[in-house]
Amino acid sequence: MAFPNSYYVGMSNLGFQTAYRLFNEQPEVVCERVFLPPKGALRDGQAARVPLLTLESQSRVSDFDLFAFSVSFEWDYPNIVTLLRLAGIPVYARDRSWRHPLVVIGGAVTFLNPEPLAPFADVVAAGEGEALVPALVASMTESADRQSALRQLISQPGFYVPAYYTVHRAPDGTITGYEPAPGSDAPAPVTKAGLRGTEESQPPHTVVFTPDTEFGSRLLVEVVRGCANLCRFCWAGYNYLPVRAFPVERILSVAREARPHASRIGLVSIALCDHPQIEYLLEALVEMGYAISPASLRLDDLNETIVRFLQRSGERSVTIAPETGSDRLRRVINKTVTNAEILDKADLIFQAGIENLKLYYMIGLPTEDDADLAALRDLTLEIRDRMVRHGRARGRLGRIVASINPMIPKPGTAFQWLPLEDLAVLEAKAKRVRGLLSGIDNLQFSVKSVRHSFHQALLSLGDRRVAPVIEAVARNGGNWRSAIAEVGLDADFFVFRDRRHDAVLPWNIIDGGLKTSFFRKEFDRSLREEWTLPQKHLEEPSLRPLAARGESPVAVDRYRIPAATVGPQPMDCHPAGRPGRAQGHRSGSGSRGIGGLPATRSVAPRRHGT
Ligand code: SF4
Repeated sequence: MAFPNSYYVGMSNLGFQTAYRLFNEQPEVVCERVFLPPKGALRDGQAARVPLLTLESQSRVSDFDLFAFSVSFEWDYPNIVTLLRLAGIPVYARDRSWRHPLVVIGGAVTFLNPEPLAPFADVVAAGEGEALVPALVASMTESADRQSALRQLISQPGFYVPAYYTVHRAPDGTITGYEPAPGSDAPAPVTKAGLRGTEESQPPHTVVFTPDTEFGSRLLVEVVRGCANLCRFCWAGYNYLPVRAFPVERILSVAREARPHASRIGLVSIALCDHPQIEYLLEALVEMGYAISPASLRLDDLNETIVRFLQRSGERSVTIAPETGSDRLRRVINKTVTNAEILDKADLIFQAGIENLKLYYMIGLPTEDDADLAALRDLTLEIRDRMVRHGRARGRLGRIVASINPMIPKPGTAFQWLPLEDLAVLEAKAKRVRGLLSGIDNLQFSVKSVRHSFHQALLSLGDRRVAPVIEAVARNGGNWRSAIAEVGLDADFFVFRDRRHDAVLPWNIIDGGLKTSFFRKEFDRSLREEWTLPQKHLEEPSLRPLAARGESPVAVDRYRIPAATVGPQPMDCHPAGRPGRAQGHRSGSGSRGIGGLPATRSVAPRRHGT
């Protein structure tokens, strides 16, 4: 199993650690890891044609039955090609045969829009690992050969075999349909697989502790999956519905077992406080001796209780995402908080003695104008004033750090039809924001590169025609401009086209569970600056007047949970040894090939069903 980035980035990723656990919980499976080797080793390995070896047993990747990628970031796409090359596996699925491992590409980004990666994948696993991994392993072990495994996979939710589909296009280059190969029984669209309920599931958690991650010895645990706030730009919010809380006793059991190895616990959830027993959970974790660090906090999650726990845990910084500076633009994007509420939250944070605040903003949002950019500055200044007032009273001033990113329209959101804002306009906005925020004491800020956003948008919004560019980038050392020129791709077609009138979007091949009609309504409501309040907010007294004035109608289409096969109850095991045992992968010796960091245990790869 590969993470197409460094060991450090991969082992910091809870999705990757969870997929690794899920594979190894299957009795028939030995799952081992590979990562993108460090630059020097990569260069030398490529020059000497040294094969890619697994971390655990130093086995050749090409000897395994399955080569599974867990992909979380678009920027890692070229690294998939690099790893396939290092492993000696043909880059394009069409060039592989029964002699090669089945290449399965999964992870968060691939179930949003798998198409730019489709030509590299024998199978795209679309959805959540808990539902996908057991079904994948069963199909592999029950099938006599590669073709029958593929046939069995496509009969289940979440498995997309790109080679089984012909993509039809109109003369203007837009997609008109996906046609399954005659007699293949391939479904169109492919339903995303999801974890139906969490009662029987082990919450995703750190299974291999190593100091060589962003989180060091922190235990990461997922507490709640999904967020129902329906922010119109947010792929994570729309694509992990419905909200599902993991049972508190299971979370505590994981925490209890890991306590000898970790003193801080990172609660990974975008909607932490949607857990019905959050206060009980936090109290119990503190009693176990954990300091608590939420991975991220929604503005509506910040209340006195949570802030008190953060303060008790010694947190000195909190991150919040106002997204923009004006209430008007927040209605466009359906971020259902106001500046007044944000300032109240800032007061709450600083009053509790937390000194630093990190702010996430976006530019390039639909209908944004100069008044919105000025409002971004004004809100930041007001937050800073509060920080200074509380800090002076304590005799210690903190810092505001603002991060400003261009909005990239994402598949599977209400903004999926939008083009990326014109680069010259984005650049002008970035310059304006820099001017507005510079020279303010105790404020640091960064504005992300506009050119970077263009290439990211190409990967987000592209289709199969983008794959040769990814291949060329992997070959030419990361030069996107020259890769696009070499392939002759009209990248602007994907990045700057208004897709509202397209018959089919590239990502429509995956049914993520929300209907196009819902997204269309949300898109129209955004242009009318109307909120769509999630049900729980309508109960809040402060918002009832808005609802009564008709400013917050709640005609949200029902989302449905895709049918999924949930695997047998996971065994209570740690595949790479008990937490803590697998530390220190990067020290010692024993590497026989590229990527082969010292093994933690020796197991021979086994072949199944080929
Ligand atoms: S609150 Fe955050 S996670 Fe939830 S939908 Fe909005 S942006 Fe996404």
